[in-house]
Amino acid sequence: MSKIDRQGILDVLDGYDKEDITIATLGSHSSLHMFQGAKKEGFKTAVVCEKGREVPYQRFDVADEYIIVDKFSDIVNDDVQQELRDMNSIVFPHGSFVAYAGLDNIETIFNVPMFGNRDILRWEAERDLERKLMTESGVRIPQKISDPSKIDGTVMVKFPGARGGRGYFVANSTEEFDEKIEAMLQRKWIEEEDIKEAHIEEYVLGCNYCIHYFYSGLKDEVELLGIDSRYESTIDGLTRVPAKDQLDIGVDPSYVITGNHPVVMRESLLPQVFDIGDRITEGAKGLVPPGFNGPFCMQTLVNDDLEVVVFEMSARSDGGTNTFMNGSAYSYIKFGEPMSMGQRMAREIKNGIKDDRLDDIIT
Ligand code: AMP
Repeated sequence: MSKIDRQGILDVLDGYDKEDITIATLGSHSSLHMFQGAKKEGFKTAVVCEKGREVPYQRFDVADEYIIVDKFSDIVNDDVQQELRDMNSIVFPHGSFVAYAGLDNIETIFNVPMFGNRDILRWEAERDLERKLMTESGVRIPQKISDPSKIDGTVMVKFPGARGGRGYFVANSTEEFDEKIEAMLQRKWIEEEDIKEAHIEEYVLGCNYCIHYFYSGLKDEVELLGIDSRYESTIDGLTRVPAKDQLDIGVDPSYVITGNHPVVMRESLLPQVFDIGDRITEGAKGLVPPGFNGPFCMQTLVNDDLEVVVFEMSARSDGGTNTFMNGSAYSYIKFGEPMSMGQRMAREIKNGIKDDRLDDIIT
């Protein structure tokens, strides 16, 4: 199927009443601050919500319109798309939107103007593309080990797909790799055919920082909006158990994200943080034009050499932005007001309308 025609999207946008734009997204993930931020910037909001999941939007009173669907994936249905266009909607993508709408659908049939670059979403989802973007941008990433027989030191083993951190394990040798693969098969966390998909990389011993950036296409500037760190089960639960009892528990940890907390980094690391943001946005401009546009997140580990190592990225609003719905230390420094990621996105749309440059930031 052919890709969404850019001119078609611009034509839809052209037909919108710019005085009456609605900010719309799927009711999940990081939508609360998107809606609240959009309202603060003077927009109407619409939530596309799975039946039975309306409660947060009603109780926090952030949505003006409800498009109730049987299942989240119905957001790509023709009638839902039409309803969105009828409301002059600009869609804000986030992790659940991408997961439920589906990358292929976003690229080929979702004919509603979106904030951001719909083509870059695939670069986050496919590990090889992600590594290409980071390597060519000159960002420090964990070293890749090409084959289990070459394991020589501590490695992190990952599997593709939607298992999240459940499919991860640590190994120190080829033998341990084989043993753990066997255990994973028995727990039915992977299937036989997944084994060849195992991605093996250097284990980075360090602290976790997920850095939330905003790239303003209007200003050609990378902004640091906030930083969070993750709570992951069962690894974070295991660290609360004394070491001798950890051995008795005898379960390999998993890395399933269950929550986030806001953090700040030591100030001397911030030059690296900005350098990473600048490099990756420059790299993306060349590889997948127009590059990043709006929110993106670099998930990092900082080791004791004070290197910021990027092990993953989100090419759209990341769930960790929920830690600064009322602004972060950094967004406050930048804006002098409590700026959430959602509000920053809405402000970019507002500025795009004011400067008659919406075309530059919509795909
Ligand atoms: P991800 O699903 O890629 O966000 O990773 C889940 C978790 O696995 C991270 O939050 C880290 O705790 C851990 N992790 C991922 N990659 C590495 C690595 N190369 N070294 C050490 N820990 C890692």
